Amino acid sequence: MTAQSPQQNILKIALDVPMDRLFDYLAGDFHVEVGQRVVVPFGSRKRVGVVIEKCNSTDIPSGKLKAVLSAFNDEYPLDADTFSLLRFCADYYQYPYGQALLSALPTRLRQTEPAVSRKQYVYALTATGLKVALDEIPARQVVQRRIFSALSEQHECDESELNALSATWRKSMQLFIEKSWVSRREILAGLQQASASSAALPALNDEQVNALDAMLKEADIFKPWLLHGITGSGKTEVYMQLIQRILTDHHGQVLVLVPEINLTPQLESRFRSRLPEFPLVSLHSNLGESERLQNWQLAQSGAARIVIGTRLSVFTPLPQLRLIIVDEEHDGSYKQQDGMRYHARDIALVRAQRAKVPIVLGSATPALETWHNATTGRYGHLTLTNRAVAQSRLPDIRCIDVSRSEMQDGLSPILITAMRERLVKGEQSLLFINRRGYSPVLLCNACHWIAPCMRCSSRLVVHLRQGRLRCHHCGHEQKIVPQCPSCGNPDLHPTGHGTQRLEQTLAALMPEARILRVDRDSTRRKHALTDMLAAVHADEVDILVGTQMLAKGHDFPNLTLVGVIDTDSALFSPDFRAAERLFAQLMQVAGRAGRADKAGEVLIQTTFPEHNLFNALRVQDYKAYADALLQEREMTQFPPYAFLAVIKAESTHYSEAQQFLQQAADAARALNLDVMVYDPIRPQMERLKGMERVQLLLQANSRQPLQTLLRNLVPSLRESKLGAKIRWAVDVDPQEF
Ligand code: ADP
Ligand code: ZN
Ligand code: ZN
Repeated sequence: MTAQSPQQNILKIALDVPMDRLFDYLAGDFHVEVGQRVVVPFGSRKRVGVVIEKCNSTDIPSGKLKAVLSAFNDEYPLDADTFSLLRFCADYYQYPYGQALLSALPTRLRQTEPAVSRKQYVYALTATGLKVALDEIPARQVVQRRIFSALSEQHECDESELNALSATWRKSMQLFIEKSWVSRREILAGLQQASASSAALPALNDEQVNALDAMLKEADIFKPWLLHGITGSGKTEVYMQLIQRILTDHHGQVLVLVPEINLTPQLESRFRSRLPEFPLVSLHSNLGESERLQNWQLAQSGAARIVIGTRLSVFTPLPQLRLIIVDEEHDGSYKQQDGMRYHARDIALVRAQRAKVPIVLGSATPALETWHNATTGRYGHLTLTNRAVAQSRLPDIRCIDVSRSEMQDGLSPILITAMRERLVKGEQSLLFINRRGYSPVLLCNACHWIAPCMRCSSRLVVHLRQGRLRCHHCGHEQKIVPQCPSCGNPDLHPTGHGTQRLEQTLAALMPEARILRVDRDSTRRKHALTDMLAAVHADEVDILVGTQMLAKGHDFPNLTLVGVIDTDSALFSPDFRAAERLFAQLMQVAGRAGRADKAGEVLIQTTFPEHNLFNALRVQDYKAYADALLQEREMTQFPPYAFLAVIKAESTHYSEAQQFLQQAADAARALNLDVMVYDPIRPQMERLKGMERVQLLLQANSRQPLQTLLRNLVPSLRESKLGAKIRWAVDVDPQEF
């Protein structure tokens, strides 16, 4: 009953459907190669697929086997490296391969219509063509003769010139190309190649020279490097000189990953002006679809030598890859939060290893995993200790003890006075609110008692609406206690209380101040952030209120005060990464104050002014705090000393999500592997957009048993009837949960 076909007429095709398998189709009359895209019938719809394999047999009964509807003549079919990288990701992150592969492609290549590439060519006669006389073309072939004459007269013709000669010039040109009379050359519109007048390179300082030399010495092998240096220490300068040296020596390509779309244009123009001899394209979601396609194809063809892109560009096919750079490698935006939940830095490492090329991870505050790998010798460790341009000194960093202050809607008198002073002097202030992964804990202001979990080493989290305290780790739950069990204080508060109305409070306190709020909501509109930043630069703003968006990469010369509020919930958050993230953010915001000639001041409101995070921050000592955090992680068995995965489920009915994860937990335990399977719990955000949320934590001492467990468990979850009724997803190496 199985179909047989002698000439590999059966195609195994990857489709963007939530099933972890390939689909068999007949090639029919189409001549299709592996890596090419085709359109196939699937159910009642047409879908785009990628040909992964050609073979002679299939298990599908011959009557049921369908044929492809059409095949695209892609100039550059997908290559084997791209297949195997996405195969790896699909396996590692427990995501269907077809979906992983298709979602890595530009949108235009996922549509059933042909992707109209705006690729532009110029045409010229070849040596053969130059010997051809016009009379060899029959007189009635008017268009052919017209085009041939034009080519003979001019050195090259571009498409607009040809369009002017005849609307049907392409047909004639195709004939000339087939006869080898004409060759065409792509003009790289997207590359905007600058004139090759490379600016003089600044002389590197000793540390920069050391870093560059070390990396150049091992430029031909897989080698991860941590380039650790505070903002302004000259990391980007090192990247650029490294790229220049490697590209000059190797004729290869370099992939530069950056965390935020907002930072891409800055870096892009810096690279373009400093490395004009190398064609450069950028890839990020603010590009129009056809530009994105074009840039992607320029990378894929090898024409683009430098590719600067955000998270998704880690999958861009690069046939000549020689080096990867991950700037701000600790940044949370490298982790995809839906679909296939990959981490672009981790994938970049895998990719570098497979391509046998070096990879540079740059940061002022490396991720603890990276720091651990660097200090244990697994990565090369390079440090830049000083600002490259000597001038701006460190800001003065102080803590304000909020348990000793009369707070006004979350603001201390010291901070208010400091802001008023700036207002009078015409200088700017920034109020930084940390709301990311916000989990309030119950805190006694009198004795600093924090509600602990009796069953594990975690802190209980306040779920105010339910009046409950819950452990996000083991699932233990209890009523909110009415008074402090340690000192009897009846006045217990969840941390972070009262900051919601901050913007209004400020407006009431300082009606004359021009206040600008910068967060995800206020910057949703395209160009909104750019406009806002311009307003800050033009001194049209006195007080900026913002979240982590403001911490990154922006230089405000007139900003002299940074106020930090609402940090305590991060200090004791059950989210094990909250403190690490807070430290990285505070290092960055502190760097915002007093960058130019004006001295800066940072005021941090906290109940714990003696916390070692603040002590390390005051002297900008990343190492001290990172080492302390790592000790904590080792004791509590969190990454990098343990490996985690979370299965998240949501449903309109709590019981369905709960039951699904309970079944998953039971099945996981039955596998009897060296993995800790916790009970399903409710996350901080118990309900989102009408959906009840539940999650299940898995924890292991190494990747291997965890991967084995998932490989055995997830296929059965995909078959589960309950699972089909709800939404669920697997998050391997979760950033937050
Ligand atoms: P980072 O990437 O670590 O934030 P950059 O490479 O952007 O640092 O350098 C910060 C500033 O110092 C930039 O204006 C850069 O041009 C300048 N700079 C970097 N290295 C040198 C150097 N060796 N000599 C002079 N200026 C430098
Ligand atoms: Zn107390
Ligand atoms: Zn617990």
